[in-house]
Amino acid sequence: MGCALGWGFVQRFVPEGAGAVIGSLSGAIVAGYFWQVFDLSQGLRVLRWLRTGDASHKGVQFGLWGEVSDRIRRLMRIGERTLQQNDGRLQEFLAAMQASPNGVVLLDADVRIEWFNQSAGQHFGLDPKRDLLQHFGNLVRDPGFAEYLAAADFRRDVLMPGRANTETKPVRLSVHIHPYGDGRSLLLSRDVTAVEQAEAMRRDFVANVSHEIRTPLTVLGGFVETLQTLPLDDEERRRYLDLMAQQAYRMQSLVSDLLTLSRLEGSPLPSVNEWVGADSILDQCRQEANELSRVLWTQSQQILFESDTDVLLAGSARELHSAMFNLIGNAVRYTPPDKSIRVVLQLQEDGGAIFSVQDEGVGIAAEHLPRLTERFYRVDRSRSRDTGGTGLGLAIVKHVAQRHGGELSIASVPGAGSTFTLRLPPGRVKRQDPGL
Ligand code: ADP
Repeated sequence: MGCALGWGFVQRFVPEGAGAVIGSLSGAIVAGYFWQVFDLSQGLRVLRWLRTGDASHKGVQFGLWGEVSDRIRRLMRIGERTLQQNDGRLQEFLAAMQASPNGVVLLDADVRIEWFNQSAGQHFGLDPKRDLLQHFGNLVRDPGFAEYLAAADFRRDVLMPGRANTETKPVRLSVHIHPYGDGRSLLLSRDVTAVEQAEAMRRDFVANVSHEIRTPLTVLGGFVETLQTLPLDDEERRRYLDLMAQQAYRMQSLVSDLLTLSRLEGSPLPSVNEWVGADSILDQCRQEANELSRVLWTQSQQILFESDTDVLLAGSARELHSAMFNLIGNAVRYTPPDKSIRVVLQLQEDGGAIFSVQDEGVGIAAEHLPRLTERFYRVDRSRSRDTGGTGLGLAIVKHVAQRHGGELSIASVPGAGSTFTLRLPPGRVKRQDPGL
């Protein structure tokens, strides 16, 4: 169109010859002008497109601006892909934090909750719909934690009760804040209930053992001093030495039971392929029970053994003997001499076996039954001591039962007697082949 206008002007006003040159020049200028306008409009289109930031838009297709659009589009696509990858990684990271058994809470510079995982939700009773952007200190109001937050000394953790904490079922949390970035912080919470209970048990155990050993040692020391300082006749001397021997025996039994327990805790489970004859274990128990009864009581008790014969048990002969004799020994110790004790090993229909010891002794009140297998738990402390008890016998029996896949049950009526039953599973019981 520029050329046509230029041509019209030349035809009319410019002499022939010079007109041809001027005509083509002006045509080129006008054409250049239109090209500039066109180019500017393309550039403006690209600019408009970039403002929207829509990577799917085609932009400009031709010429230099087309090339620019193309390259920008490519860069945008790479950027978008990187963004998607980063988002995917973030989601994976959050999913990993969700799977953590420890609580994780992200707090902003004003201690408001930005994000938390499920464990933290359970630990502190937080609800993701209700509690995001709430001040953490307003939701978790334990005084110890409030002090920790106010002091802002986060080099150590703080212990506090969890949301589900009750008197019968305590829940203890260790909470530690780790500051990062611009005043933000990462709060980690860990359920330490089991660790604390184990630590309390360990402390009690050490205190109990120390107490149990100190008592006979003090008595022994007293007797030694008496023997050293007082002029005693032979009879008195013998009496003191007997009492000293009793105390030494008490300490020996305690150490022996402690060693048994530590062996049970530290050794691999008894084999299911090693078979031991129950008859020989029971014979040994019978001899030891009669001996114990003679030592403890002036008149021997009646101890009846009514067992299936030729029974084989898979496991450790030493452990099984220890468990069986502990139950028989207890029956002997807690049953008066004129009463009887019944020991039974019986095969069961399911292929397992039960070993039970029934006595007509003092019996045990119902409230004590759940705690009897705890270490050093005794119903009657002096009776236990007087008869050589360590308070560890039933703990050993329970351990042996568990290690052999069995279980111990106790039934008792105060004043009428008790029955202790050890059940062994079918895989650990069989009848000896009569042909062998
Ligand atoms: P101990 O060495 O004191 O007997 P155990 O662990 O063997 O320790 O038993 C724990 C407690 O259970 C005993 O102190 C006793 O009070 C009670 N007990 C165990 N067996 C009997 C039983 N056959 N009759 C009555 N009480 C028993």
